[in-house]
Amino acid sequence: MGDQRGKETIGRRQLLGLGAAGIVAAGLNAVSRTARAAQGAPTALSPAQALARLKAGNKSYVSHPQLCSVNLAEQRSAVAAHQAPWATIISCADSRVPPELIFGGHGVGELFVARNAGNLVDTATLGTVEYGAAVLGSPLIVVLAHTACGAVQAACDIVTRNATYPGAIGAMIEPIVPAALAVKSDPGDFANNAARASAKRTAARLTAASNLIAGLAGAGKLQIVAAIYDLKTGEVTYLD
Ligand SMILES: [Zn+2]
Repeated sequence: MGDQRGKETIGRRQLLGLGAAGIVAAGLNAVSRTARAAQGAPTALSPAQALARLKAGNKSYVSHPQLCSVNLAEQRSAVAAHQAPWATIISCADSRVPPELIFGGHGVGELFVARNAGNLVDTATLGTVEYGAAVLGSPLIVVLAHTACGAVQAACDIVTRNATYPGAIGAMIEPIVPAALAVKSDPGDFANNAARASAKRTAARLTAASNLIAGLAGAGKLQIVAAIYDLKTGEVTYLD
C-alpha cells in the first residue's frame, strides 16, 4: 500500500475518466505527464530496441535455456515503487507459452502481459494494452500466437465441421473464425496458418479499434508486431 498505490489509482481514474477519444483530444503529452506523475519514468527503450531485446532473449531461450535466469529478489525490490515495462505481450493462456520465459527469462517489472485463450483482443484486453502504452510507456506490443493452439483449432473445427462448444467457449473463439476462413484453402497446416492469420488481424485491429494506440503508433512511440511461437523449437517468428 502507501502513497504510490494511491497515485496509481488516481492516474488510472484520470485515464479512464477521459476515455480514449478524450485522451487523444487532450493530447498524448498530457497522458505522458500523467504517466510520469503516477508511475515514475517510463522505459528509455525505443520500439526498435525493445523488439531487438525480445529477439535476443528468445535466441538465448532456444540455444541456452539454462542461462535464462534472473535475480528475482533484487528485481522485486527494484520495481516495487513503480513499473516501467518495456514491452507488452498479448499471448495465449496456454501453459506452454509464458512470455517472461520464452523471451529469455525476464523477471518482474519487465513485460506487461495480457493473456487469454487464442490471444484475442476484447474490451478488457484493449484497455489493458492502452494502459500499458499510454500510461506506463511500453513502446512495443507483440500479438503472440503459437503453434498447435487449442483455441485456434476449435475455430478451425467450426469452419470444417460446424463444431459447437459449451459455455462461453464458442463466443470467445468466434473472432478467430474469419481468420480461419481466410486461410482455409491455403497449403500447409490449417490451424497454424489460421493462428498466423488471426495474430495479424488482431495486431491490425489494435490501431483500428483504438485512437489512443493509433496516435502513439503514428507518432513513432509505439510499434505493433504479430508473431508466432513454435511449441517444439521454442522459436518466435515475426509475421509480416
Ligand atoms: Zn493457444
